[in-house]
Amino acid sequence: MSDVFKIGGLELKAFSDGILKTSTDFVLGMERAQANALTGAGEDGAVFIPVNNFLFQKDGATVLIDAGAGDTMQPTLGKLPGNLVAAGYALDSVTHIILTHIHPDHANGLVDAAGAALFPNAEILVHAQEFDFWMAENDGSETDNVKRQRARNKINLAPYLDRVRRMGDGEVMVGCTPLLAPGHSPGHTVWRIGTGREAFVAWGDLVHFSDIQIAHPDSAVKYDLDPDLARRSRLRMLDMVATEGLAVAGAHVAAPGLGYLSRKGTGYVYDPV
Ligand SMILES: [Zn+2]
Repeated sequence: MSDVFKIGGLELKAFSDGILKTSTDFVLGMERAQANALTGAGEDGAVFIPVNNFLFQKDGATVLIDAGAGDTMQPTLGKLPGNLVAAGYALDSVTHIILTHIHPDHANGLVDAAGAALFPNAEILVHAQEFDFWMAENDGSETDNVKRQRARNKINLAPYLDRVRRMGDGEVMVGCTPLLAPGHSPGHTVWRIGTGREAFVAWGDLVHFSDIQIAHPDSAVKYDLDPDLARRSRLRMLDMVATEGLAVAGAHVAAPGLGYLSRKGTGYVYDPV
């Protein structure tokens, strides 16, 4: 498996933020025994999934895809800044950060423990629908989970607010186009990067459990704010990726997370490069 993907004149590099411990208890639409068998989980259902981030350079821009968890979630996470620096990418050299969505394992790493920007020169590219949902004030109808994440996301974005670009479907910035794929979060986005079929998609949490949801895209996860909408988005986007033969950069696909998708039965197979 390679951690570098050359496609359409772009060189995409994968950078790990670490490993996230989760559980098949969060799988919806599948018996736990089957979920455990597919993921290799034991009786307790514990599953360890990678948190992959990606970087490419284009026309003088250095673009990072998602920002990792920082030191906020589990001690096995928060490795992204160190891995970038070790590879020769100073954090202040990042000019743009694309967010697939604003969840802890993708956005808490935007800031340090004091709330200062870890990427002081980066502009944030995010779908307007995602940004507006998390930055909105609570109206009393929210779950505790949403309230908690809204509070945290305001910390994550605070030092970047004067350089957030709220994008809509079809807009292009540094070769990146957001395609709304909602459900996991209200503005969850699959980013299409490159031109024509010489392109890849950064699909965020379209697939959360890769051992399950690629072969069984009907299954959803309890992390989805709207599991049915997430399921429809996944079916639509996986179909597009397979039909067009697009390369995949998957946040939680087996590290480093670069590969292609092909059809098999009612689902798909992921082939790493
Ligand atoms: Zn995630």
